[in-house]
Amino acid sequence: MLIKAEGLSKVYGGGENKVTALHRANLQIAEGDFISIMGPSGSGKSTLLHLLSGLDFPTEGRLSYDGKDIYGLNDKELSAFRRRRIGFIFQQFHLLPVLTARENILMPLLLDRRQADPAYLEELAAMLGISDRLTHLPHELSGGQQQRVAIARALIAGPDVIFADEPTGNLDSRSGAEVMKMLGDIRSRMNKTLVVITHDSRIAQMAERRLVIMDGILTEEGVAGR
Ligand code: ADP
Ligand code: MG
Repeated sequence: MLIKAEGLSKVYGGGENKVTALHRANLQIAEGDFISIMGPSGSGKSTLLHLLSGLDFPTEGRLSYDGKDIYGLNDKELSAFRRRRIGFIFQQFHLLPVLTARENILMPLLLDRRQADPAYLEELAAMLGISDRLTHLPHELSGGQQQRVAIARALIAGPDVIFADEPTGNLDSRSGAEVMKMLGDIRSRMNKTLVVITHDSRIAQMAERRLVIMDGILTEEGVAGR
């Protein structure tokens, strides 16, 4: 799947409160790409990720997945598209506290009225080292384990693309490194496209393509004229 973002801008507020969070970002993401986007706090990273994944709409610009114009979809089409093709991983995990790890992982399928494939769930859990944690509630898990549950949830519906917004931001450096390694391994084994936002340069280094965002301006390292 080819993702093409052209001239994406996002302006919040107006008058004295006007903030240009993103200014004319261009980006092409090819199938299987592993991309990191690094930038300081407030530089526009989350804004860019929300636009790339159709979670939010730009002030200006276009986005297509395999030529399909994403911002032209209606609400229902867009949420169905996101549920099936895109996985999200958040800094704060966003697990539902009253559901077990297994129930959290299966939630996207439930929302889409799809049956779980037990073999696929087992495979994901094994790859993420959480097979013996599936009956636990989130508060019974470490931060690293919670994030691994969230990764399984992001993958359960078989999306092509995974967007992760500072996935290790709430983890100590050791479990953060572990989580990133698992994510990288899964991406190559399952041939997923992975876009990771981070302000940690060690994590950014793991990616094959590295982009930097400063004050809403996106640039790619090692690519002239983009
Ligand atoms: P990052 O993820 O790199 O920390 P964000 O994309 O969250 O940065 O924010 C970029 C800029 O846009 C910041 O100046 C932030 O304050 C502003 N911003 C983000 N979301 C909103 C919003 N909903 N309303 C107003 N300003 C916002
Ligand atoms: Mg952010």
